[in-house]
Amino acid sequence: MRRVLLLGGTGDALAIARSLPAAHVYSLAGLGRVPGDLACAVRVGGFGGVDGLVRYLCDEDIALVVDATHPYAAQMSRHAREACTIARVTLWAVRRPAWQPQPGDDWRDTADWRGIVERIAGFHRPLFTLGREPLAHLHEIPALQHWTIRCLDAHPGNERADIIDARGPFDLAGERALFDAARIDVIVSKNSGGRATEAKLAVARERGLPVVMLTRPALPDADRSFDDAVSARDALQHWLTTQ
Ligand code: NAP
Repeated sequence: MRRVLLLGGTGDALAIARSLPAAHVYSLAGLGRVPGDLACAVRVGGFGGVDGLVRYLCDEDIALVVDATHPYAAQMSRHAREACTIARVTLWAVRRPAWQPQPGDDWRDTADWRGIVERIAGFHRPLFTLGREPLAHLHEIPALQHWTIRCLDAHPGNERADIIDARGPFDLAGERALFDAARIDVIVSKNSGGRATEAKLAVARERGLPVVMLTRPALPDADRSFDDAVSARDALQHWLTTQ
């Protein structure tokens, strides 16, 4: 049996996993929700670096790896590329295109946390949609700022920070309400691409608010790349019928 290993942790990956038959494996790092309603096997936790992944690919008789991790999960994508090369396993990847600035957008790119802090220095009410990273800096919030942090973590806030534990998709009406309630004057975002979380960019555009955008990491080439989950799922269904 030529088995598939699907690397996940995104909505795209879950959409593909829903079409995977029982013999195949959906893999999660273990930070988020683990679905309990899939036909395929689900494994949770790291492989132990490139060596561990090479061992896994050989032990589990994997013939195809589909990397559908988040565009900022660069380490897992690099490990997948290296391990597939060593183990001579085919690698496919879902590489969601980055959002592109539209007329009226005021995007300010930065490569790291330090750059973020510098770029939001003149603002009072930033909205962070970067994941958990701001949680490590709650004690560093300048006196004139109040942070709103949206991430997948029910972390306590403090007198200068509200934490919203919420998972997309987010729509325009909901984002407008959040911007109003939290009096947001700047957004800090990853350039995740896709529809699920792009409404915040439209709200920033209509209100003339800047977006501090964390630069995307470089990702390795795959043997075959897809822009979205639907085309990857269709190709995978075809691949499965040819095995
Ligand atoms: P990362 O820095 O690229 O990976 C860190 C380590 O986590 C990897 O070396 C690997 O451990 C393990 N890992 C990551 N994805 C895995 C998977 N699908 N299955 C098994 N092990 C995995 O990743 P990250 O940025 O921490 O993200 C972790 C997970 O959250 C990813 O699955 C990603 O798709 C998802 N996610 C990330 C973001 C983001 O902004 N980074 C956003 C949404 C979802 P070993 O070296 O031990 O194999």
